[in-house]
Amino acid sequence: MARKRVTGAAAARMAEEHLRSIGEALPTPVTRCSRDLRYLWVSQPYADWLGHPSEEIVGQPIVDVIGPEAFEAIRPHIDRVLAGTRVEYEAQISFRGPGLRWIHAVYTPTYGTGDTPDGWVAVVFDVDDRHRLEEEHGRLAAIVQNSDDAIVAKTLDGVITSCNPAAERIFGYRADEAIGCPITIIIPPDRLDEEHEVMARLRRGERTGHFDTVRKAKDGSLIDISLTVSPILDAGGRVVGASKIARDITERKRTEAALKELTLTLEERVSERTRELEEINAELDAFGYTVSHDLRAPLRAMDGFAKALMADHADTLGSRGLDYARRIVEAAQRMDLLIQDLLAYSRLSRDELRRERLDLGDVVREALHGLEDEIRTRSASITIADPLGTVLADRATLRQIITNLLTNGIKFVEEGSTPRVRIRSESRGLMERLWVEDNGIGIAPRYHGRIFRVFERLHGIETYPGTGIGLAIVRRGTERMGGRVGVESNAGAGAKFWIELPR
Ligand code: ADP
Repeated sequence: MARKRVTGAAAARMAEEHLRSIGEALPTPVTRCSRDLRYLWVSQPYADWLGHPSEEIVGQPIVDVIGPEAFEAIRPHIDRVLAGTRVEYEAQISFRGPGLRWIHAVYTPTYGTGDTPDGWVAVVFDVDDRHRLEEEHGRLAAIVQNSDDAIVAKTLDGVITSCNPAAERIFGYRADEAIGCPITIIIPPDRLDEEHEVMARLRRGERTGHFDTVRKAKDGSLIDISLTVSPILDAGGRVVGASKIARDITERKRTEAALKELTLTLEERVSERTRELEEINAELDAFGYTVSHDLRAPLRAMDGFAKALMADHADTLGSRGLDYARRIVEAAQRMDLLIQDLLAYSRLSRDELRRERLDLGDVVREALHGLEDEIRTRSASITIADPLGTVLADRATLRQIITNLLTNGIKFVEEGSTPRVRIRSESRGLMERLWVEDNGIGIAPRYHGRIFRVFERLHGIETYPGTGIGLAIVRRGTERMGGRVGVESNAGAGAKFWIELPR
């Protein structure tokens, strides 16, 4: 409304009515307010927008109707319009009634008979929905703008229609250079077929999912990317173009390659180290074997000459001398036993194992056969819970292992009590577990780990003779055949040893 001087009360009234009829005809909220900040009239859309009948609004102070918060917000605009300026603004204001809304408002001053505005007409557009859409759009645009992935849109003919900053960075073309160009500027010649296929699928409305491929940058360099191509549909659901989201995976590919190489070198290093260790082990074993072997000769000499002394010079030796000679013989024999056991232990890792399917019952009976004397002297009772299972093992090694377990079962009992040993087996998945259970002195749990080591003994040889190698052989032998060993026992409560071997 242009500023216009109206003279005469009648003319002023006519103009007023004119204004009102125009205002009420508009589909958007319109109101006329007076200089003393009250409503003079409101259009129906205005009343509807505020949610009150117009009779309740007209004549009321503006602040009472729209609330102090909204009034504060529009106050500066009112000041300006009352100073004679047309005001147009867009703002988000919290109105009593409609709540927080974006509005676009135009305030025009009105003049009665005087020189200063007597009030103003306010035309209000509720632009809240538009704003929300714009915000949403802005957010989406920001996502596209800030994405690390290159996002390129193209027509079905393969003409680039937009590209984001990541695409500019990855492919090296500025957006204004790329838009309008064929997509083939970033496709290496040998990937053109792939592109045709992708486009064919898109025309059918299909997405491609992720796939790794190669694209060409402006400087000709090739870039490994992971690509997703999706159709762009128009409002009618027709495919009109395609969007491509490309992730630069050059770095990932490089890391993968580096990792692969590292793994390879690591594997090489490990196997080299293993080979070295195996060699050292073999050397050590050979050394142990020779030493043990060579030790036996002087030992036999000691044993032989001590016995000769006892036989030929008993008179001159006297009883004390004879006792010394006897002790030499005993010590030599004990040492021989130790060496024999050590030899057996080291043979375990030197000798080739011949694994075959064995009936545990057979091997147990063979072992018992070898122990007949011992069993008889100690009046031991042995029970076998037939049938025992079958295992894959080396016969001689397994016999040795079972013999050692049985010997211990018979040996480690309280003096004067009768040894009772029970043998049973059970299947556990792919393994067969053989139990050797006795009624002996048992082993406190804190020693369970130790007793399987070489020379570890819990008793003096006076109480229970032995070399401390028996269980070490049990463990090494079982493990070499792909099995495990264990014990369940408490001091004074008997012991249950087990070995587990592949079935
Ligand atoms: P050795 O029998 O020659 O002493 P082993 O290696 O066979 O050597 O056993 C190591 C130690 O484990 C034994 O000295 C003994 O203290 C303990 N042990 C082994 N078997 C049993 C058992 N059945 N009951 C109680 N203790 C045992």
